[in-house]
Amino acid sequence: MKAAAGLAGAALAQGQGAAKKMVGIQMEVAPIHDRGPGKVLDDIQRLAHVNTIFLGVFTYTDTRAGVRKPDFHGGNFAAVHPQYYKDTPLTPADMRATDFGDYDVLAAMIPEARNRGMKTFCWVIEDNFRPRFGKTDEIWERDLYGRIPERHPGGPCINNPGYRNFVTGLMEDYARSYEIDGIMWGSERQGALGSSLGAYHNGAHSDPGQVACFCRFCEAKGRRQGIDFERARQGYQALEKFVRAGRGGTKPRDGYFVTFWRILLEYPEILAWEMLWTRSMREHYAAIYERVKSVRPELQVGWHIWHNISFSPFYRAEQDYAELAKCSDYIKPVLYNNCAGERMVSYLESVGQNVFGDVPKAEMLQFESRIMDISEAPLERLPDVGLSADYVYRDTKRALDDVAGTKTAIWPGIDIDVPTPRARSTPESVRAATLAALRAGAQGVLLSRAYLEMKPKNLRGAGQALEEFGAV
Ligand SMILES: [Zn+2]
Repeated sequence: MKAAAGLAGAALAQGQGAAKKMVGIQMEVAPIHDRGPGKVLDDIQRLAHVNTIFLGVFTYTDTRAGVRKPDFHGGNFAAVHPQYYKDTPLTPADMRATDFGDYDVLAAMIPEARNRGMKTFCWVIEDNFRPRFGKTDEIWERDLYGRIPERHPGGPCINNPGYRNFVTGLMEDYARSYEIDGIMWGSERQGALGSSLGAYHNGAHSDPGQVACFCRFCEAKGRRQGIDFERARQGYQALEKFVRAGRGGTKPRDGYFVTFWRILLEYPEILAWEMLWTRSMREHYAAIYERVKSVRPELQVGWHIWHNISFSPFYRAEQDYAELAKCSDYIKPVLYNNCAGERMVSYLESVGQNVFGDVPKAEMLQFESRIMDISEAPLERLPDVGLSADYVYRDTKRALDDVAGTKTAIWPGIDIDVPTPRARSTPESVRAATLAALRAGAQGVLLSRAYLEMKPKNLRGAGQALEEFGAV
C-alpha cells in the first residue's frame, strides 16, 4: 500500500507538466489490410492513447505479418522502387510481398495516421529472413564448414556487400518514397560464440556446427584486422565438441567452466571472431542510420534489441547501449516481462548443458539474478508468473543510465499477450509494467509485440498506466 501511495505521488508530480510520451504499438500488415487503417487506429487511440504506429512493413515471417498460410512469401508490403536497389542480387520480385496483391500498406496508412495526429514508423524485421529463394544463397552466411546454415538463428551475412546494399537501399526507398516519421530495425541474431553455446532462449536446440559467419567476406575482413581465420575456425570446432559433449551429458574431466575457459585460452581467436561480428553489426546499424539521415535528417532511427539482452550476460556485454547511442535516436530494449519467465528458464537449461553445467539450476538462477541485476520468483514458479514489473523498472533504468548525456531516447518494449505456454498477461500486469517503465524515466513505451496478439482489455491496461502517470 505504501508503494501504491508512492506511485500515486509520482504520477501526480509527473502529471504536472510532464512532456507527452511516445506511445507506440507494433502492428502487423494484415489488420490494416483487412479492416482498413481507420478502424484500427481509432481502436488503439481509444484504448491506449497510441500516437505512433510501428508498422511491420518488411518481414518474411507469416505470423509477423498477421497471416498464416503455407505459401506465404512476405517481404516488402509497400511498393518497391527499383532505382534504390543497386549492387544486390535480390530482385524486386524477391523483395516485394505479394500476399495481398499489390496492396501498399504505407500508402494506405500514412494519410489516415496523419489525420489523427499519429506518426508512422517502418518496423523492419530482419530475423528469419526468408532463405533459399531467388539469389539469396549469394548473400547468406556460411557456417564453420562453409555450408549455408539451415537452422535458427541464421540469415544474410552483415558483411556481404550485396546484403548491405539491399538494406541501405530499402531504407532509402522508405525515406524518399513515403512521408514516414521514422524507422526501427530489428535483428534477433548474435555472433558465433553465443550461438555455439546456445546462450539464448530455445538455444538448447541450436547446432554448434552451424554457427556463423565464416563466409569469404568475413574471412577477408578478419584478415585485414589481423585475425587468423583458420585458428578461429579451429577454436569454434573445439567449442562445438565441448557443446555437443555437454548436450550428450558427458561432464568434462575438469568440469564445464574450466574446460570452457581453457578453450578460450587456447583459442583467443574465438573472442576476436565474436567481436568481429558484433562490431560488424554496429557498422550495419551505422550504415542504416547514415543513409536515412542523409536523405531526411528529421526521421527518427533506432533499434529493437533482442530479448536475449535480459538473459545472456554474453549478449548483454556485446549490446553496449553507450556504444550504440552513437548512431541511435532511440533504443527499444525488449523488456517483455510476462513471457520472460519461460524464456529465462529455457536460457538456463541451455547454458546449463555447457558453460554453467557445473551449477545446479536453482543456484544458477541466483547467480544469474546477481549478474543481470534482477530479483524474481524461484525457478519452479518463473514460467507461471513471469518476471515482475520491477524487472522492467531496473532494465529501463539501466538503459537510461547507459545512454545518459546522449540524444538517445529509451522506449522499452512492453509485453502485452506475447504468447508463452503458461504465464498470462492481465490488465494489471500490463499496467504495472507500463508504469514501471515510465517511473524509471523512459521517454516512451512501445506496446509489443503485435497488435493482433493483444486482448483489448490488456491493451487498456497500458492506457490506464499512461493516464495515471499523466503521460498523455
Ligand atoms: Zn560473413
